[in-house]
Amino acid sequence: MTTTKENIVSVFNVEEVRKDFPILSKKVYGKPLVYLDNAATSQKPQSVIDTIDRYYTELNSNIHRGVHFLSQAATNEYENSRVKIKNFINAVSHKEIIFVRGATEGVNLVANSYGRKNIKEGDEIIISTMEHHSNIVPWQMLCEEKNAKLRVIPINDDGEIIIDEFKKLINEKTKFISVVHISNSLGTVNPVKEIIEIAHSHNIPILIDGAQAIHHVKVDVQELDCDFYVFSGHKIYGPTGIGVLYGKEKLLEEMPPFMGGGDMIASVTFEKTTYNELPYKFEAGTPNIEGTIGLGAAIDYFSSIGIDKISAYEKELLVYATEKLKTINGLTIIGNAKNKSGVLSFVLDGVHPHDIGTILDYEGVAVRTGHHCTQPVMKRYNIPATARASFAFYNTKEEIDILEKAIYKVIEVFK
Ligand code: PMP
Repeated sequence: MTTTKENIVSVFNVEEVRKDFPILSKKVYGKPLVYLDNAATSQKPQSVIDTIDRYYTELNSNIHRGVHFLSQAATNEYENSRVKIKNFINAVSHKEIIFVRGATEGVNLVANSYGRKNIKEGDEIIISTMEHHSNIVPWQMLCEEKNAKLRVIPINDDGEIIIDEFKKLINEKTKFISVVHISNSLGTVNPVKEIIEIAHSHNIPILIDGAQAIHHVKVDVQELDCDFYVFSGHKIYGPTGIGVLYGKEKLLEEMPPFMGGGDMIASVTFEKTTYNELPYKFEAGTPNIEGTIGLGAAIDYFSSIGIDKISAYEKELLVYATEKLKTINGLTIIGNAKNKSGVLSFVLDGVHPHDIGTILDYEGVAVRTGHHCTQPVMKRYNIPATARASFAFYNTKEEIDILEKAIYKVIEVFK
């Protein structure tokens, strides 16, 4: 049978998928847990939990340095994960996959290494209004140090990047661009391919923050042609404390190390240190071995379901939730981009988002409230915070019904 777009969703069995995530059968306050805080972090399938368990019961050893059995076995698994990730995002070489703590460290690595080497006084760096703080502050710190300038692409009322304004910001002083793929507070899917093409038509390198994209849409770094791409393992059903920086080999080769220490060197004397080859030049010290191997297991699990099915099902959830919440009197959805994914941010007339979150919590519904590390987005909409429901492929329409009911309860309490 050929799989058409129409029947992708029908072959996706969410009840079966849910059984893979032990935490989803948990009760909170005696009610079934409805976990809608997936943009903050996702839950982990049993296979990832088992992989980490197996690492400590059967493999635990430091990598790269040992000739003994365990060290070699752990090194093999660690490096296998790198190959899995290379294949998953279609990088050209395993040398382009740098393990970092998460998206935040990935951006900081590029700002500190590429940025400090190449950004000079008077240069300009472009980001957008909808960036997470982790894609604002490292560039701001760099600009402060170098006396360079941060320029910001505005967004429209629906929460979309205004491409014409972006084009107007580019000039001969623009030396770097860093833009989010999918916004964590608005859900906007940015037209990153177009943005990358515009950047490259001016010979400007570009980083894409994929923290909210890697688990929602297909990411092919060769097709995108981005220079750098960062994401965190914990958002794609893997462990915390591990993430990936993808960089084009040529750029990474030219960049100085970010941190110094063990493993990143070729030789050390007090007179001179030479550096290891890629990717190790950027992986100083004992890395997060269990996290890296766990991330490999997460990629295996995720791939076994398939991004097409996941994307299609999550889209269906988002449409269902949007239609429901739109009909609630006094509720305003923040972020109405034509192309959205995974996230539904909202405010309720007369109720602070923190109060929404607290009352939903007592109904077993976990959402996030606050500025979501995107304070400039809150300023753009002139609101202090939002309540944010964010979806994963293990969520169900029944859970969205529970969310809807719980919101009516909030309205009842604040009447
Ligand atoms: N960028 C975006 C869009 C995010 O949503 C997040 C996490 N909320 C980050 C970057 C930072 O990710 P981490 O905290 O895992 O480094």
